[in-house]
Amino acid sequence: MSLPPDLYAVFGHPIGHSKSPRIHRLFAEQTGQSLHYEARDVDLPQFEAAVRAFLGAEGGRGLNCTLPLKEAAWRLADTLSDRARRAQAVNTLALRSDGSLFGDNTDGVGLLRDLICRLGVIVPNGRILVIGAGGAARGILAPLLGESPAAVVIANRTPERARILARDFSDLGSVSAVGFDQLPGRQFDLVINASAASLTGELPPLPDDLLASGAGCYDLAYGTEPTPFLLWGQARGARISADGLGMLVEQAAEAFELWRGVRPDTRSVIELLSNERGF
Ligand code: NAP
Repeated sequence: MSLPPDLYAVFGHPIGHSKSPRIHRLFAEQTGQSLHYEARDVDLPQFEAAVRAFLGAEGGRGLNCTLPLKEAAWRLADTLSDRARRAQAVNTLALRSDGSLFGDNTDGVGLLRDLICRLGVIVPNGRILVIGAGGAARGILAPLLGESPAAVVIANRTPERARILARDFSDLGSVSAVGFDQLPGRQFDLVINASAASLTGELPPLPDDLLASGAGCYDLAYGTEPTPFLLWGQARGARISADGLGMLVEQAAEAFELWRGVRPDTRSVIELLSNERGF
């Protein structure tokens, strides 16, 4: 008699749109791993009890956490990776053999793999603008600064949040904060939209001459259509203009490897999902 597949899930609210079950199913098929991965609608008030039940009575082996649960997952973990400690957010929980809960944050490394390995963006010595100062921005700053850019500037609708973020990461490199009104006259080699503006079809107020020659635009958000920020970049001659689908697949691969000890091929999965939506 064969054993039941190992159980994993993504918790979040809302969660209906999540591509994670599909991505992990593709990874499992590709690597011959026996696992079941599902999406569950879990909001903050139920989060801790839902985690305990999933990893206890239900026998779950690991979890992804998405909005609005990443900070709660960071608080719940017994031990943390360095990058999760820095980000103060956890998107991957793994049950260890001693019953303890290990928390990791794979968002930043997922972004960098997509940017550098797939899209060929060169970060060292580049001038990088990060738009947004929420959880996603916090998760990508340490890995970005680890690539030795010339400077990282954070611009946020609420400038005070950008200032706090810049202060928290200032030991890792050149990082500063501005409001959108301070962007005119400045140019960047890479502009990363880590704000949630695209989710409501909005575009942050960006000056027309923001992109240096050959610059790249990357939107962490993704959907069935190009985001307003991607269209903005394309119209201003960005050399690369990509959304966060690749990052989503890469952060999932990192979690999969943590849980299963096997690294799936991400390129074929990104290609499949990109072809399905047609851009
Ligand atoms: P969050 O913690 O809620 O932060 C949202 C940020 O966006 C804040 O800085 C907020 O500014 C800003 N913002 C919201 N609406 C805006 C608007 N209309 N114009 C300008 N700025 C606006 O969210 P998050 O977790 O950081 O997520 C941010 C984005 O990253 C989302 O689109 C999410 O889907 C995406 N993401 C993608 C991946 C992936 O794997 N591809 C992973 C993680 C996150 P204020 O501070 O002024 O409120």
